[in-house]
Amino acid sequence: MSNFKKLRQRMVNDQLVARGLHDQTVLNALNAVPREAFTPTNLIESAYRDSPLPIEENQTISQPYIVALMTAALELKSDDRVLEVGTGSGYAAAVLGEICKTVYTIERHKALADTAQVKLKETGYINVQVKHGDGTLGWPEKSPFDAIIVAAGGPEVPQTLKEQLVIGGRMVIPVGKSLKSQKLVRIRRISKDEYKTEDLGGVRFVPLIGAAGWGE
Ligand code: SAH
Repeated sequence: MSNFKKLRQRMVNDQLVARGLHDQTVLNALNAVPREAFTPTNLIESAYRDSPLPIEENQTISQPYIVALMTAALELKSDDRVLEVGTGSGYAAAVLGEICKTVYTIERHKALADTAQVKLKETGYINVQVKHGDGTLGWPEKSPFDAIIVAAGGPEVPQTLKEQLVIGGRMVIPVGKSLKSQKLVRIRRISKDEYKTEDLGGVRFVPLIGAAGWGE
């Protein structure tokens, strides 16, 4: 067995299962995606570390546990259409692509969007479409979505994203008026005009910057 495969299995056991995450679909996905392929070359030895890692443009690949927690909270089914805001390295998009048929992901930094696109193709995630742009506006042409995951923290939940959920759709997003800490929430669209919000705990994400996020 390759060293990375061993490290990956250990990560799933020690970082996910040990913390009480038992969603088998999500565990399988994190056990399948080669995180080392999305990690900057100089940090490849740290690919399975229990922490976020720096990538270009001052951004980060989220900690494996956070990716797993948010993915589990989306309650995905294999034929769901998912939107991710904040492609970053492309790692979380690959995890979503492992579970769902169609994944759309948007990144505001062109260099990151381009690199992620190449890496997703190289690793075989041809069901993930990457777009460069402001994800707080969603992806109207591809909407509605069964699930939306936002990988950056904004001051509030963008209304446009809520409206791009199907009835019964779920969105997981960090929100908070501070750049230093947010709370992770799950929003469920109950009917055309009704949404239910659940608090999933405290987190710290890079800022969501855009029309319905923080200013530049
Ligand atoms: N899911 C990523 C985590 C990346 S960090 C991974 O697995 O690697 C969050 C990303 O959100 C950053 O790359 C940042 O540039 C991006 N981002 C912030 N605001 C955004 C916006 N309005 N639209 C799209 N991407 C945004």
